[in-house]
Amino acid sequence: MSDSPTTGLPTPWFVPDEGARHRLTHELRVEISDGHPLFNAGSEILNRCGACDEVLVRVGEGNFGMVHLTWTGKPELPPWPQYTHTGGYVATEIAQSVHGQAHDAQ
Ligand SMILES: [Zn+2]
Repeated sequence: MSDSPTTGLPTPWFVPDEGARHRLTHELRVEISDGHPLFNAGSEILNRCGACDEVLVRVGEGNFGMVHLTWTGKPELPPWPQYTHTGGYVATEIAQSVHGQAHDAQ
């Protein structure tokens, strides 16, 4: 499991429980419309930020990105919800760390 960014997460990232992850995944599916980079990408939510609505998604084997959910409960017009492709394991861990530090600075 040491090759997964769900372990040793930088604060305030955490792994939601099954029910929360189900709600997050449902919201993500609702918000993503045709034309969004995650449309039909089969993305899977791994963890989320505890300080905002950012979630980490796996978009392929060893390939990740961060999505800022809008929680409007309806399809968004691309480029919303805002998506940042973070790339592989190491780049993704750094991106999560940088994101967490941005909250600390507030
Ligand atoms: Zn955040």
